[in-house]
Amino acid sequence: MQQKIKEIELILEQYQVEMQQNLCKLLQIESVLAEAGESCPFGVEIGRALDFVLGLAAGWGFVCENDHGYVGLVDWGSSDFQIGVLTHIDVVPAGSGWQTDPFCPRIIDGRIVARGAIDDKGPLMAVLYAFRAIKESGVALPVTLRHIIGTNEENGSQCLAYFLKHHTPPAISFSPDAEFPLIHGEKGILQCALLPDLTKAGETDGSSQVEDMILRWAKGGTAVNIIPDEAEACLKLTTRGKELFLQAYNQFEDKDGIAYDEKNGEVLVHAIGQAAHGSLPDSGYNAVALLLRFLSCLPLSGANGKYCRDIAHLMAYANDGGGLDMKLSDEYSCLTAAITMLNIKEIAVKDQESYAMMDMRFPVSMAGESIINKLHAGTAAYNIVLGKCLLKEPHFLPVHHPLVRQLLMVYKNITGDDSPPLVIGGGTYAREMKNSVAFGPVFPGEVSLAHHKGESISCENLLKLAKIYAVALCLLADMPKELFL
Ligand SMILES: [Zn+2]
Repeated sequence: MQQKIKEIELILEQYQVEMQQNLCKLLQIESVLAEAGESCPFGVEIGRALDFVLGLAAGWGFVCENDHGYVGLVDWGSSDFQIGVLTHIDVVPAGSGWQTDPFCPRIIDGRIVARGAIDDKGPLMAVLYAFRAIKESGVALPVTLRHIIGTNEENGSQCLAYFLKHHTPPAISFSPDAEFPLIHGEKGILQCALLPDLTKAGETDGSSQVEDMILRWAKGGTAVNIIPDEAEACLKLTTRGKELFLQAYNQFEDKDGIAYDEKNGEVLVHAIGQAAHGSLPDSGYNAVALLLRFLSCLPLSGANGKYCRDIAHLMAYANDGGGLDMKLSDEYSCLTAAITMLNIKEIAVKDQESYAMMDMRFPVSMAGESIINKLHAGTAAYNIVLGKCLLKEPHFLPVHHPLVRQLLMVYKNITGDDSPPLVIGGGTYAREMKNSVAFGPVFPGEVSLAHHKGESISCENLLKLAKIYAVALCLLADMPKELFL
């Protein structure tokens, strides 16, 4: 096997330039979620990107299948025992601020710059060439290698749900859609609406008996898994209310991020923060939380005022669940909880339209049910009820699991890096199946520009990825199958 591995690495080196060229062709296709077309449930461009990739693989002699535009399959081998690699071909929209055209890839300082370069088209192309090099080396593997190409990872992974409904998942698999050295645990996810309890709507906390200041509405946030960078509120003030507002504003500690405009007895308050992924609230600055902290310093009257203060107490002062009395952790990670969306409406009392959304990531050793029970307990003293919840249990493979050990060894042998595996708050394809982990493509110390402007992958790392994935597949194929049954 060692001889074959050397051969495979040489083949990959010969293909380095061609691999870059084909990656650039793939990056030119704007495979962003769009209106469904025929056999393209997530848009014509995603379909075109999938056809391009499957066309390449078929041309190299692989058995390929486009399953109704939901998922692409590239197979090598005829064993019932499958080793899978999970990548995705859809990308998030370009966004603003790019110095180059995000769908016209450029090589700048040894890096290919384009939307999707690292997430996930670069790794996808590396896996495709890993398969090709394995095939051309002539090595006989006692398994079937299956590259599963998703089409909807960035918008709910309906592609993977479709795959799991119509196909048997591979016995073992990895997904190059996160970080090296390896992700052996993904925290549980609880996304939940915190609603005003209308049965207690008449109760207030006595903060304001006079209606000098009414919260007409407040809103912020774009998606439940994104830390919001903007939030706004509208207040109706009496003359005395205006005085109280100014007093509170001047005393407010974080007023750098708060601005206000006044018009016809109404005040519009803006809060500015910094966006981040919902699983990493500390890496951004939550504008909704900031707005709520400010609003809860004001003597707001009525049910909206009470709702605002309740949500602020629970969610706006800490990202660690402290406000909910849920500051939990285990040996791998700590719980995080962030308010990611807010929509308070003036008419809330009548039709229950106001809501706040929470994105919570809980440690891998804890069960969803106990987390929900703790959340009920933590909110019980407030005029808050829990609305619709989306729960995903944690995904975890112990460090001594044979898949984890083998992949870590391959990574270490090729890079020399001995870092321990990671537990993350984000969710990857790996969590949807057993014996599956996320493995690369971002190296330790590298800043991932996934989802950001200027996304890129280094040409050197692209080749390194192909080598790591090819060697990993060969060595996994060589392991006793009983280890994974
Ligand atoms: Zn991705």
